Amino acid sequence: MKKTIKDYDLSGKKVIIRCDFNVPIENGIIKDESRLKASLKTIRYARKNNAKVILLSHLGRVQMEEDKQKYTLKPVAERLGNLLRKKVKFIAQTRGEELENAINTMKDRDVILIENTRFEDLDGKKESGNDKELGKYWASLGDIFINDAFGTIHRSHASNLGIASNLPNGIGFLVETEIKKLQKLTHKPKKPYTIILGGAKVSDKIGVISNLITKADYILIGGGMAFTFLKAAGFNIGSSICEKEKLSFCKEMLDKYQDKLILPIDVITATEMKENVQTHERFINEIEEDEMGLDIGQKTIEVFKQYLDDCKTIFWNGPVGCFEIEEFSNGTKELLNIITSTKAYTLVGGGDTARAAVTFNYQDKISHISTGGGASLAFLEEVSLPALDIIDEK
Ligand code: ADP
Ligand code: MG
Repeated sequence: MKKTIKDYDLSGKKVIIRCDFNVPIENGIIKDESRLKASLKTIRYARKNNAKVILLSHLGRVQMEEDKQKYTLKPVAERLGNLLRKKVKFIAQTRGEELENAINTMKDRDVILIENTRFEDLDGKKESGNDKELGKYWASLGDIFINDAFGTIHRSHASNLGIASNLPNGIGFLVETEIKKLQKLTHKPKKPYTIILGGAKVSDKIGVISNLITKADYILIGGGMAFTFLKAAGFNIGSSICEKEKLSFCKEMLDKYQDKLILPIDVITATEMKENVQTHERFINEIEEDEMGLDIGQKTIEVFKQYLDDCKTIFWNGPVGCFEIEEFSNGTKELLNIITSTKAYTLVGGGDTARAAVTFNYQDKISHISTGGGASLAFLEEVSLPALDIIDEK
């Protein structure tokens, strides 16, 4: 068992908490604050226990000087302050005198948010490349390090692995919950266990497919990735998205696991991926040359339903259609309806899948929606998670 924030006496200590404040921001307005809300429990706990709270997080990808304006964490400090009902002091730098002075004059229960850790990437990828000196420097600012950013737990960054290597450490409540919920799928999942896999590309999900196929009873394949599988199975997929270099992988998987991998039998097609376009419902041997498959069809939904109805465990990653466009959102909506009508333990992972669940208002009916996309997949694949592996055991 990993040490958690509860295993430390925080009183009077400078506690560095790595949060996941990677939220969509447009013109200074936060478009989805669920990640901020998810961080509150750990921050409140630290304050209640009289810690001096130092927060850090990344936001977006910072590749050029101009990205700084777009990806400043300043709006997060303001909104977080409202949510906490306590001023969050924003320090517009990732290192230096202003930051050090602010920390040295903190009182117990004060909260400071440091600027986007990825601003350090402009200088030789110091954050993302886990620059040793940077991790040491950030660690020198505090007494205890708590990692509560699940979304980056599979990454080796200075702000997670780097700091943790230099301070007594533990995980926060958000990471602890994620682990508990995801372990229901890695530690003897209740059977039948079915996985729904969709999304645009097979290449994003190779690890999941080859790893989870041995653990689950069935994998239902939808989304863009279904078409590489369908082509590998010998169908004409028209102009649907297809990854040629993954055809042999798909063929191999289909040969080996023909009873476990379930492909669509009909799809919704159109000649363009846009609103108000003319759509057709086609059996998969009827797709025309200039058409692409953009959602699963009604018959496929019925087939998938049969695999889902009696399940005890369901994991879903990747929308089964271009759900962002009304015309191609039906499959994803219907499957959300089906899985939330079962008695199964339902876990949804992946940024877009989570967004679909929230957009179509199923978030309260799903057992757990993981806050991490790639991180939840890496966890289920049971590959190493550097920023978690480094955390001290109890
Ligand atoms: P997640 O973020 O949940 O892991 P992905 O990023 O893998 O999901 O995939 C989501 C994207 O896949 C969506 O933007 C969706 O429009 C796209 N998609 C789904 N079905 C298709 C399809 N048939 N053709 C092209 N793109 C698709
Ligand atoms: Mg995505």
